[in-house]
Amino acid sequence: MHVINGQRTPGTGPEFVRRSPATGAEVARYRLASPADVDAAVTAAAEAFPGWKNTTPGERSDLLFALAAGLEARAAELAELESAQTGKSIRLATEFDVPGSIDNARFFAGAARQLTGLAACSYWPNSTSMTRREPIGVIGSIAPWNYPLQMAAWKIFPAVAAGNTIVLKTSELTPGTSLILAEVAAEVGFPPGVINVIAGDGQSAGEALVRDERVVMTSFTGSTAVGRKVMEMCAAKGARVHLELGGKAPFVVFDDADVEAAARGAVAGSLINGGQDCTAATRAIVHRSIFEDFCTRVTELMNGVIIGDPADEATDLGSLISAEHRDRVAAVVDRARAAGAQIRCGGTIPATASGTEDSAYYAPTLITGIGTGAEVWREEIFGPVLVAMPFDDEDEAIELANDTVYGLAASAWTTTTRRALRAAAEIEAGCVWINEHIPIISEMPHGGYKASGFGKDMSQYSFDEYTQVKHVLIDESPDAHREWQDIIFTTDKERA
Ligand code: NAD
Repeated sequence: MHVINGQRTPGTGPEFVRRSPATGAEVARYRLASPADVDAAVTAAAEAFPGWKNTTPGERSDLLFALAAGLEARAAELAELESAQTGKSIRLATEFDVPGSIDNARFFAGAARQLTGLAACSYWPNSTSMTRREPIGVIGSIAPWNYPLQMAAWKIFPAVAAGNTIVLKTSELTPGTSLILAEVAAEVGFPPGVINVIAGDGQSAGEALVRDERVVMTSFTGSTAVGRKVMEMCAAKGARVHLELGGKAPFVVFDDADVEAAARGAVAGSLINGGQDCTAATRAIVHRSIFEDFCTRVTELMNGVIIGDPADEATDLGSLISAEHRDRVAAVVDRARAAGAQIRCGGTIPATASGTEDSAYYAPTLITGIGTGAEVWREEIFGPVLVAMPFDDEDEAIELANDTVYGLAASAWTTTTRRALRAAAEIEAGCVWINEHIPIISEMPHGGYKASGFGKDMSQYSFDEYTQVKHVLIDESPDAHREWQDIIFTTDKERA
């Protein structure tokens, strides 16, 4: 199913069945979006754009507030579906994914009325200049499977708040909640074609969307490898691109840190969403004097985490997205083990009461005894796996934190203001938390440095992606003469 032009529409691509990666139960059966479906969605968005761009910010704001209320009314259903299609725990979906998405709608409902620019002023003789911040047109967005509803929210709300229309392609694995979002949007009065959601695979539907000449900007969240392909496709047609890519977040613990707070932060920050989170804590860089205490406590906490049926309120950690992904995670850990790393806890596929052989569970894992060349230090694993490495001095800690091609998020744990400020300034990442790891806030920008991409989601900064700025100059000269034109009109000058 897809939502095109405000209507639920069956796709015309091959049939696809999505099963819960935890229990194997069928969650969705539908036909994937084909290039023809992409074409229909882009046509709807292109036809809706002239009308939508001329709505007032106030009208757009009202609709976004109504959409937030509509989503809130279906919050329980959204949480259940998000949990079923991804394998994440129902508590995570209920307390994080769904309210986070609704909050984002409310933020952009307010922000729509606060688009900023330079004040009108006279910069040129006898004139007033002002700027207009205008929408761009049809946006194509491509989202990953890890936080389907939140990714849809982050892409759709700023785009439509700014007056653009959008076609969002969700991952074929996790279409349900993004489709409900589009359906609720239609119910609360968004004009047909403003918000279109299609579910399809990357090579067929994704590429068709990015390559479509009517799509003036692609906003992509996903892996760095695919992000680079998307950038090439956008370059070929000279269109804008916004990339939110992978991460390998450092988690730096100085010797003056509260070790208990840091250990709890590391466990929650590395296990959130089964570690399938681009900002997850993945590399703990810990002062040697507290390294063993930290690792011991992390191990205790990881061993206490309850793994099980995502639908069970008692479950702390559900399954990964698929058995194939679980096997990829397991293989990376097995290679580290074979290379001599110490697996302090986890490193196994746990048997659970609710699971089958194909259930995508993986145990929380702490790895030590590796060097900076190790695969587990360098590569994004996207599973519940934390590696830890000791350091001796502050310069080395910062160097290790920056020893990655990625730069999405990081945290530093210290009770010293000077160290906190140094870490905030010197760690190369789009977000540095101090004594925290994970909070992402609608009012604040989210986006990468280095190979983690460029451009911002969330916050007023996202409008820099979804708008273009026009200079309007109004001449107030009392007569036909303009001084600068004397360059051209020599005879006029001589006459004068
Ligand atoms: P992915 O790159 O495999 O896929 C992402 C999306 O791109 C999917 O919708 C997929 O269908 C589509 N796609 C794949 N090939 C395509 C192509 N050739 N043309 C157009 N679209 C194509 O990523 P994933 O496995 O779904 O998600 C995990 C990745 O996403 C991780 O690397 C993670 O770090 C990243 N991520 C980043 C952020 C962020 O904010 N920076 C947030 C969440 C996830």
